[in-house]
Amino acid sequence: MTHYRSLNSWLRESYGGKVYKLALDGGFTCPTRDGSKGTGGCIFCAGGSGDFSIPVSGDVTEAIETAKHLVDGKGAEKYIAYFQSYTGTYAPVERLRALYSQVVKHPELAALSIGTRPDCLNNEVLELLSELNTVKPVWVELGLQTIHPETAEYIRRGYPLKVFDSAVTCLLEKHLNVVVHMIIGLPGETPEMIRQTAEYIGRSGAWGIKFQLLHVLEGTDLAKEYREGKVRTLTMEEYIRILEACIESIPPEMVVHRLTGDGAKRSLIAPQWSADKKRVLNEINAAFDRDHVVQGSRLS
Ligand code: SF4
Repeated sequence: MTHYRSLNSWLRESYGGKVYKLALDGGFTCPTRDGSKGTGGCIFCAGGSGDFSIPVSGDVTEAIETAKHLVDGKGAEKYIAYFQSYTGTYAPVERLRALYSQVVKHPELAALSIGTRPDCLNNEVLELLSELNTVKPVWVELGLQTIHPETAEYIRRGYPLKVFDSAVTCLLEKHLNVVVHMIIGLPGETPEMIRQTAEYIGRSGAWGIKFQLLHVLEGTDLAKEYREGKVRTLTMEEYIRILEACIESIPPEMVVHRLTGDGAKRSLIAPQWSADKKRVLNEINAAFDRDHVVQGSRLS
């Protein structure tokens, strides 16, 4: 039984072979870090999820070759360039053009994926993304995390929900593939609030969704709150139960890019059970079998 529409199955259907993501770092920052909207970044963020990214300084081909070596021996036939660190559209458009236009011309790359924020997509950037999309498919990954305003304020996200709504509308008008990130386990959120975020993303018209477990990482302000006993993290059982409800609340055709996170083990404070990703995925799959989870089954 297929419980959900995975990115792997989508890639197999679309490209007929093994496609791997190459994590690249374009040297960006975020408006919540450089002072334009704040300096501390989002409360849980230890650096834009780019721990394993290869820095691109000048020659894109060289960075791509280095990143390819990290997946050597896995039988990759094509690659997706993934700029996951910080905010991949937060720079002058000419700098973005110089970087990304080289990337989309690379013959071994099937697509370009850019992690960004909905408040960093002005008209010039949208035009550029649309242009790049005529050369290779462009995926735009938006860090929404939650639809609930009180949580958004607590995590210092730095933009209201309506900014997300209008960014998705603009991206869809340009025929870009939109992927939305949400976090399961943010402080103060009930399972039902989290499920509502998934359902909202499901109704947004986005192509894909990424579920991320809340990690408490060393060096973040969330870590301070955790050590002071102000926040707790989910047990694996809680996480899986909420994840099931989220999967059941998104449309069957939505592509699930991730079921849990890839936190850097050396800076992980909690929950420690998440460090064993293989075990977590096995437990998720076993629970989906046991509970007969079907993507979209809660939608009327
Ligand atoms: S979560 Fe994203 S937007 Fe927030 S500080 Fe980290 S990289 Fe920047």
